[in-house]
Amino acid sequence: MEKRELIYEGKAKRIFATDNPDHVIQYFKDDATAFNAQKRGTIASKGVINNALSEIFFTLLERHEVPTHFVKRLNEREMLVKRLEIVPVETVVRNIVAGSLAKRLGLEEGRAIPQPVLEYYYKSDALGDPMINASHATVFGMASTAELARIDELALRVNAVLQPFLARCGLLLVDMKLEFGRHHGEILLGDEICPDTCRFWDAETRKKLDKDRFRQDLGEVEEAYQEVYRRVLAAA
Ligand code: C5P
Repeated sequence: MEKRELIYEGKAKRIFATDNPDHVIQYFKDDATAFNAQKRGTIASKGVINNALSEIFFTLLERHEVPTHFVKRLNEREMLVKRLEIVPVETVVRNIVAGSLAKRLGLEEGRAIPQPVLEYYYKSDALGDPMINASHATVFGMASTAELARIDELALRVNAVLQPFLARCGLLLVDMKLEFGRHHGEILLGDEICPDTCRFWDAETRKKLDKDRFRQDLGEVEEAYQEVYRRVLAAA
């Protein structure tokens, strides 16, 4: 496998072509952004941790019949993944009230949600990822009705697999953002699964162990990522 040209650079990752048209390399940076890139910084070793955590989560999910883009981890900061045509809909699954849900509906942060809530956001940096509904997604051609149904099914399965696994790590899966893409006609889970894209709270103390420490200037950001990695690695 040969690494070729940079084909995309996002806020936290770079994507490189390979000599196989079906595979690309996903490189994890330490760069962190929040509030639609208005806040910028770096989190030391974040890329290494997110690469390693994503490998563990994707491998676990594949074992539970969630098809993902993951092929193999190549080194500390790179994984080989299947090339996807990204569906421009970010799917958020929520188990506990936090973040934009607390704000939008005036709900108290930390309140348990009786069953998982699914939300969609239109993936657009220019628009700041506005919230959309299924009608927007299908009528404006972001995803077909069948694709959206599959995305719902897979998002709920990801939640059903990760929640009990993380519970064994002493972590609450508060919420998470998932991205899906098309690969030879099949919907696969893409992107990454890590403390940048999920909210993880300590199950006992409810201490935030995720990117909210960076967003809200809570300190101990690197330590939180390392703590999640240490616990997940021990349970994997
Ligand atoms: O901010 P909000 O409460 O809507 O975020 C829900 C979940 O989605 C959080 O876990 C957050 O880290 C993640 N998210 C993300 N990328 C975004 C927006 C939210 O990973 N652009």
